[in-house]
Amino acid sequence: MAEKHVYRFGAGIDGVNATEPAGETVDQAKWIVGGKGANLAEMAKIGLPVPPGFSITCQTCVAYANAGNTWADGVLDEIDAARENLEERMGKKLGDPKDPLLVSVRSGAPFSMPGMMDTVLNLGLNDVSVNGLIEQTGNERFAWDSYRRFVQMFSNVVMGVDGDLFEDAINEKKAEKGVKLDTELTAEDLKDLTQTFKQIFAVNVDSQAHPEVTVDGCAAFPQDPKLQLRLAIEAVFGSWMNERAIIYRKQNKISDDLGTAVNVQVMVFGNKGETSATGVAFTRNPADGTKEFYGDFLVNAQGEDVVAGIRNTEPIADLKTVPGLEEAGKQLDEIFVKLEEHYHDMMDIEFTIEQGKLWMLQTRVGKRTAMAALAIAMQFEAEGAISREEAVMRVAPEQLDQLLHPQFDPKADFKVLTKGMNASPGAAVGKVVFSAEEAVHCANKDQPCILVRWETTPDDLKGMVAAEGILTSHGGKTSHAAVIARGMGAPCVCGAEALKIDAKAKEVAVSGTDVVLHEGDIISINGTTGDVILGAVPLVRPELTGDLETILEWADEIRRDASRGRIFGVRANADNPEDAQLSRDFGAEGIGLDRTEHMFLGDRKEIIQSFILADRTGAKQQALGQLLKVQTDDFLGMFKAMDGKTVIVRLLDPPLHEFLDNPRDYAVELAHAEDRGESDIQLKARRDLLARLDSFQECNPMLGLRGCRLGIVYPELTEMQVRAIASATAHLKKRGFDPKPEIMVPLIGTVEELKVVREQIEGVIAGVSEQTGVELHIPVGCMIEIPRAAVTADEIGKYADFFSFGTNDLTQMGFGYSRDDVESAFIPLYLNKKILKTNPFETLDPGIAKLVKLGVEGGHQANDKIVCGVCGETGGDPDSIQMYYDLGLDYVSCSPYRVPIARLAAAQAKIKSNGGAQKLA
Ligand code: PEP
Ligand code: MG
Repeated sequence: MAEKHVYRFGAGIDGVNATEPAGETVDQAKWIVGGKGANLAEMAKIGLPVPPGFSITCQTCVAYANAGNTWADGVLDEIDAARENLEERMGKKLGDPKDPLLVSVRSGAPFSMPGMMDTVLNLGLNDVSVNGLIEQTGNERFAWDSYRRFVQMFSNVVMGVDGDLFEDAINEKKAEKGVKLDTELTAEDLKDLTQTFKQIFAVNVDSQAHPEVTVDGCAAFPQDPKLQLRLAIEAVFGSWMNERAIIYRKQNKISDDLGTAVNVQVMVFGNKGETSATGVAFTRNPADGTKEFYGDFLVNAQGEDVVAGIRNTEPIADLKTVPGLEEAGKQLDEIFVKLEEHYHDMMDIEFTIEQGKLWMLQTRVGKRTAMAALAIAMQFEAEGAISREEAVMRVAPEQLDQLLHPQFDPKADFKVLTKGMNASPGAAVGKVVFSAEEAVHCANKDQPCILVRWETTPDDLKGMVAAEGILTSHGGKTSHAAVIARGMGAPCVCGAEALKIDAKAKEVAVSGTDVVLHEGDIISINGTTGDVILGAVPLVRPELTGDLETILEWADEIRRDASRGRIFGVRANADNPEDAQLSRDFGAEGIGLDRTEHMFLGDRKEIIQSFILADRTGAKQQALGQLLKVQTDDFLGMFKAMDGKTVIVRLLDPPLHEFLDNPRDYAVELAHAEDRGESDIQLKARRDLLARLDSFQECNPMLGLRGCRLGIVYPELTEMQVRAIASATAHLKKRGFDPKPEIMVPLIGTVEELKVVREQIEGVIAGVSEQTGVELHIPVGCMIEIPRAAVTADEIGKYADFFSFGTNDLTQMGFGYSRDDVESAFIPLYLNKKILKTNPFETLDPGIAKLVKLGVEGGHQANDKIVCGVCGETGGDPDSIQMYYDLGLDYVSCSPYRVPIARLAAAQAKIKSNGGAQKLA
């Protein structure tokens, strides 16, 4: 069957529902007609009042772009047929001089990208049809206002004319008439303005670049509604690749390849007088999850006015009390309930009331904060609408980061400077900045900042991403700032009206106080309460309690349920007792990686330095003795904190010179000593030291003397570390504890290396066991982080009780990318050029995954009891966790703060790979 490019939705004036769903479910249809189109069709299907229209598919957008912005044969005819059909259904025609049909042209990608792409409203008006609109509505002012808005929007969005030219013209007109508000302009003024706008179009549109709108050699505002429609559709397709849409997709991990659908829909007007209104709402509170209708509306306004925060909105609960809107308000409440019953989720809605009649313009599953996501998932489960597994699937693991991020320290003492709306929870401290550019600039210098704006626009997106928090003086909880901040998990206080912002002067006065904030001043904001504070309030990490604790417990049950698929563990990477305790508090089932080199920092560095640099056996032995003592204490602390749980201790890994002073710095010191005229003996000692430091320098230290190679060259180091582990274990066992250490050998490349080191380890353990009289069973395994180890895992596995995949090194060596250099050197460019889809140091690369696969299969072939896990950075990344489950790993290990995220992601991975969430019977 030929590809279908256009799908209809909604009922015509005859009441016949002409909806053509693009898939059996909204989830299927959204890939074809986008989220907006799929949900419009769904609402129409369940009998909700949707203005009729049609959707042009995302695939059409992709094909149009791939063909260099040209149309494939027949597609324009299909669109034209859909337009004609819509006209028939409505009994009206676009551009009709007596009774014109007007449509909106809006984007709608498979995933919602609020405000990121283009929209054109009131399409179909021209110099003739505007009279038809006057005739039909009897409202001359309304008709001319609609036409001037259309000319303005079309010129700006479709032809790229600078929007300020139109705003300036409006301001000039207001000045000329001596009025302040747009609403004070008369029909005649708006008619004049329309004329002025058309002139702006003629002067600013390049007629050579746009021959389709050229008449007698000059650009002229197009009068043919069919041409208007085609150009608007092309512009909306084009807006898929505008800068802010690209940034948003990158931020939200949405593929650039999806394209956007275009929805052409009959216009309904919220600005036809006092019985008309427009609004946006959520079926529950998206900030904290409270079960209440939540949102704002404006009487006598168009949709964009609510989101733009230009006029202060009214709360949705008051809608039923507005004379003339009572019925529509009641109907809206019923629709909220019906939508939740149908979708089993919290929904986000846009509606318009035209002269008392309610129309649903959009619905989608509502974006929400992590706190709300948890609360809502629990509520739907408790209400019997969804299963526990579905509830676990409802919370995005990455979102939990918001809850694990700082909040004001409850013990902190502070004075609230002013208050706004608590639009997106969490706290932030940073420098005041007034522009997106400045926010980016601060972020590049690692300086936390708060973006302070009158209200944000989509152009502020990069600044919102860069800032720690967002503060606005205007706009409600559904304003752009609030919606975007909640989506990103950034703290946001909006509508703090006491702030009188002068962005040009880079200052903000706070009404009712004598405070004037300047760029660079430090403020704190609390998006959970709406508080704004002058100065820095100390921040603390929250604990796992309430809904978060419950959902993680449910996730754990699923992860540990062997009847539901392979048990999938979560451990933490930690190398001191405090982090070990934190990992435990966050629910880690063990330590997957204790990097012992981190135990040699601070004042310990001197001891290891003296071991490395000593040239006498006696001095070396003395240093080793000291190291043994401190290491034994370290392990006592670690094993106690993790009593009863596995602690994988990795033997020393880094190149030794990492512990030594930089020879370049030391050469400077030597030069100063020479200048000071130090004695020959002193200078000789310094020169010898410099020579020794130099001797540890390597051209490629990451490929040099490190990992197990260190222990083979310096067996006394392995001996000391293993003795410390075994002694601490024996000591604790004697005192009734249950330490469970395992010893991991890093950077194995050949089976012979593991054989040699394992033999030594076992010898030391046996010795300690004999000396202490405590029976010791300490498993020995290795990292798989060199490609050669992965491909020879079937040999290495014979000598390993466990494997832990080190994807940091495996990625470094698999790609040949220096992990310390490339992330700033060229990965961003590679991502932009799409040479790489994701940063392989953040998300497991499919090629490196093949090495992991070989490693897991080889390990199991050699040893059917082998335990396989991962401890590289990707072990805490939800997308990678899914891959690790599918690759057959037994656990993931990640930094303590990511443990809750990994617990949820691991449960979701297991559910997804075992037939999806179980539904209620
Ligand atoms: C790894 O290489 O993935 C790993 C965990 O070890 P490190 O980062 O310490 O090299
Ligand atoms: Mg490594």
